[in-house]
Amino acid sequence: MKTLQDIYEQSLTVTKEGKVATYIPALAAASSDHFSVSICAKNNKEIQLGDCHATLTLQSVVKVISFMVAANHHSMDEIMKYVDVEPTGDSFNSIVRLESDKKKPFNPMINAGAITIASLLPGESLHDKVKSVTEFLEAILQKQVHINNEVYLSEYHSADYNRAIAYILKANGFLSSDVEDALQVYLQLCSIVVTVSDLAKIALYFATDGNNEYYSEKAKSSLEVIQVAKALMLTCGMYNASGKFAAFVGMPAKSGVSGAIIAVVKNSKIEGLQGPMGIGLYGPSIDSVGNSVAGIHFLTKLSKEYDLFCL
Ligand code: GLN
Repeated sequence: MKTLQDIYEQSLTVTKEGKVATYIPALAAASSDHFSVSICAKNNKEIQLGDCHATLTLQSVVKVISFMVAANHHSMDEIMKYVDVEPTGDSFNSIVRLESDKKKPFNPMINAGAITIASLLPGESLHDKVKSVTEFLEAILQKQVHINNEVYLSEYHSADYNRAIAYILKANGFLSSDVEDALQVYLQLCSIVVTVSDLAKIALYFATDGNNEYYSEKAKSSLEVIQVAKALMLTCGMYNASGKFAAFVGMPAKSGVSGAIIAVVKNSKIEGLQGPMGIGLYGPSIDSVGNSVAGIHFLTKLSKEYDLFCL
């Protein structure tokens, strides 16, 4: 049987097959050969591979958290009036379907859906909306989080595509704030700073359905919303490679263009760890779809070796 270390070392060599994202200028500075993994079980038991001190921004991984905050605040029925739960098979920032017969964004894991969700977050001001998500995250991570202003401003000043999406959403009645507010909230949330261990802890939240004695009240979610979030991760979490990921890896997961991935393990045994687990991965070298090449490689091998397929 291959050890975690074997799988990790093999995945490290794959980093050269991708490229660091450059369309957000501040992300281009990441090291393309970095790869780190954290696997976290209950009681803070954790296995780390690679340098787990590196920090990164959540990027699209935050979409699953913002969705939960908005859905818990309103209700699933209300959220469904603004955003659907259907996969698209299109790239994460695609605008094309917003012009089709069904103008409603397809799901909260693509940019269109996430910008709509940003406008639906609790609170009147931009600050309160951002805070509703950071507070939820802080309750899961049990530490304060902050926004990387350099990454935020770098993306804000080059966000023409997302701005275009937001204007179409607004024109079609799928934005409940003005365009600039929704865009700024969305981009600030993408710029929240975490470590790979934090990613694993976020994934563990889903693996335990939010049941972990140390979570405070602020991390509360209805089970329905957690289940929908996991279904969304499984069907739409890895952009337009979600089908392949579900078929050949078989776990709810969400990626971000910073090279982040969270993956949810229901109930398993991985070396010294047992039970529900969260996996966090950080490998800034990404493929053409936007997923970490080392991360995908690692999870594919890990799932086979440790029988993690959840379906
Ligand atoms: N902030 C990024 C964007 O909107 C997030 C996208 C991603 O991680 N796929 O383009």
